[in-house]
Amino acid sequence: MYGTLYLCATPIGNLSDVSARLIETLNNADLIAAEDTRVTIKLLNHFNIKKPLTSYHEHNKAEKGKYIISLLKEGKNIVLVSDAGTPAISDPGEDLVKLCIENDINITSVPGCVAAINALILSGFSTKRFSFEGFLSVNKRHRREHLESLKNDTHTLIFYEAPHKLVYTLEDMSEFFGKNRKIALARELTKLHEEVIRLTLGEASEKFREEKPRGEYVIIVEGKQDTDKVQEQYWWSDFTVREHVDEYIKKGMSSKDAIKAVALDRQTQKREIYNEYHSEKS
Ligand code: SAM
Repeated sequence: MYGTLYLCATPIGNLSDVSARLIETLNNADLIAAEDTRVTIKLLNHFNIKKPLTSYHEHNKAEKGKYIISLLKEGKNIVLVSDAGTPAISDPGEDLVKLCIENDINITSVPGCVAAINALILSGFSTKRFSFEGFLSVNKRHRREHLESLKNDTHTLIFYEAPHKLVYTLEDMSEFFGKNRKIALARELTKLHEEVIRLTLGEASEKFREEKPRGEYVIIVEGKQDTDKVQEQYWWSDFTVREHVDEYIKKGMSSKDAIKAVALDRQTQKREIYNEYHSEKS
């Protein structure tokens, strides 16, 4: 008989979040496949669990996946864990699940923390409809296409981001969602320095231009509100694009910066403002 693959969630910071079932499942496993064995060994040592470990990560998943499947076919029970949280959520695991399904191997889960859901419930934004967007691509074009596709969504959006990229992501989001869009930044969840700050994208970009982000963050973006149109009565609301750009130039900005500022105000792309400004001029 084939063995079972157990997808086991591990704590995202606080070791007291482990469940009795997680400990039991780890103790009963024939093998534990871990994203980073150096991280998982600390968890196992803490709970005095002694089990063979193997790595399963982004860079070895093709050949390691086949090896794990061969062991499952021999009847071994295997646990898959990631560094933190639920495996297969912005973590390796998805491919192994597909492989198990293709090979008629039973899969089950031992549920626990997902940083995205913890952050969502603390955000104060609607939990009725939300979408998990994971990490934005590092490829500029893909990243912009992704943000563009979300700018009119009315449901709550959840993103993961590494601290060193946080400010760039907040600035890109401001460009597409507008600097008045409300967000919540959930930091170091379940850890000693857990904090949730609620502010606008404009305020957040400014804050992290001056301050180095510390720890791990989830970005929760409120969906576009029906009231956005009513609220967006700004000083420039009655201006044409040209008048709007000229107003910034009068205030001392270069035309390039003025176009950028207008694109931010109007939640649109610089290129569109540039084209409109130059066509209005001619
Ligand atoms: N599989 C994990 C889960 O279930 O949440 C996510 C892994 S993903 C590689 C790592 C990202 O999750 C981090 O960059 C951060 O955005 C988020 N994250 C993980 N732990 C967190 C924590 N304690 N507080 C805030 N964000 C966290």
